[in-house]
Amino acid sequence: MLARLPKGTSDILPSQIDYWYYLENIIKKVLQNYGYREIRTPAFEHTELFVRGIGEATDIAQKEMFTFQDRKGRSLTLRPEGTAPVVRAYLEHNLSRENPLTKLFYIGSMFRCEKPQAGRYRQFNQFGAEAIGSPLPIIDAEIIASSLAVYRQLGLTDLKLMLNSVGCRECRPQYLKVLKDYFREKKDLLCADCKQRYEQNPLRILDCKKEQCRIVIKECPSIFDYLCTDCANHFNTLKYYLDSIGITYQINPLLVRGLDYYTKTAFEIVSQQLGAQNAVGGGGRYDYLVEELGGKPTPAVGFAAGIERIIETMVKQNIKVPVWDGIKVFVAVTGQEQIITALSIANQLREKGISSEMDFLGKSLKSQMRTANKLLVPYVLILGPEELKEEKVTIKNMADGAQEEISLDNVLPYLQKCILKNR
Ligand code: ATP
Ligand code: MG
Repeated sequence: MLARLPKGTSDILPSQIDYWYYLENIIKKVLQNYGYREIRTPAFEHTELFVRGIGEATDIAQKEMFTFQDRKGRSLTLRPEGTAPVVRAYLEHNLSRENPLTKLFYIGSMFRCEKPQAGRYRQFNQFGAEAIGSPLPIIDAEIIASSLAVYRQLGLTDLKLMLNSVGCRECRPQYLKVLKDYFREKKDLLCADCKQRYEQNPLRILDCKKEQCRIVIKECPSIFDYLCTDCANHFNTLKYYLDSIGITYQINPLLVRGLDYYTKTAFEIVSQQLGAQNAVGGGGRYDYLVEELGGKPTPAVGFAAGIERIIETMVKQNIKVPVWDGIKVFVAVTGQEQIITALSIANQLREKGISSEMDFLGKSLKSQMRTANKLLVPYVLILGPEELKEEKVTIKNMADGAQEEISLDNVLPYLQKCILKNR
């Protein structure tokens, strides 16, 4: 147990970290270009925030939350998603005061106690954006465009945008009634979870991935026959905007997403390269959430994307990312007498932005040269007793093996010239 990861978690090793740096940089750049500013909220919140925000009848609230008590017996939950915390912060800090449309983005770990499998983990990372304050479909179009822009900048291809409307307080009850009528006779064919969903919120059945349920769901009534004029207009205008900016989509009346707070627009972005867990992101409008969490009625729209699934897609699509360009200089010594001078030279180089390494294991010069080779450094500085006496070092160009002696004072300008000019 001591040297084992908990189920559903993973280490991001140095060999994988370049993907993460690359992704985080692109996410920040693209979303800032769209006018979103980053917000960082805590990893845990009061349990009530998520129960209220996500909805009691959702899978997340019912069985996926990591909930614990603090020492005073208050119930806390590791965040399973980012929207409820962002809205909590929006209300707590009265962010709408500065701007009636608040545009925020986040990147961070989320926690859900799911059955671990490919593409499904217990601690995973999401980025997402939220635009709080506008009821207009133009902001839905922008949210969709900004999420697609991140994927595009990352170099991902073969993604599909699925689009739906899940209605509002006016029209959804009628659809739920029709849906309930439809499922009533077929209840026996549904899985145990869906039988319960039938009682609590039949819309959730549409999100079930089980084959036995998919067969029944396929034939169910379409929400588009029940949308009110406002929701139908909103959806049509959104489609018009997406068409106008060249974003293609596939309408899927069965798309409902895993959280209860969505209204009107719901969308998902799926990768053709991933297997069962193929959604790399999704989102939608959540016009009642702010109110549900104690604010005044405020329309909003957002999306969230799974970083691990994006990286898996990038690997499958063979997308290369810029990698760390490694150590530039190895400062080698012939004996321990030179170690302090070596450390001081290495530190001076590092101060000037030249990455440097040296021996910390008391190895022989030969062995240090092997290490330098392994590190693929372009230059090695060699400090011996003679050189030190004369305040000189030998500098070896590892590309062609050429060596020359230069004075200690000249080391920095010399290397700056060689290394920084190659950048
Ligand atoms: P799914 O249908 O795959 O369970 P979801 O509807 O629960 O997804 P959201 O809550 O909308 O997903 O989260 C947005 C994105 O976060 C998903 O599209 C996916 O890429 C990613 N994601 C969700 N749950 C996990 C998980 N357990 N492990 C890894 N990534 C996840
Ligand atoms: Mg899920």
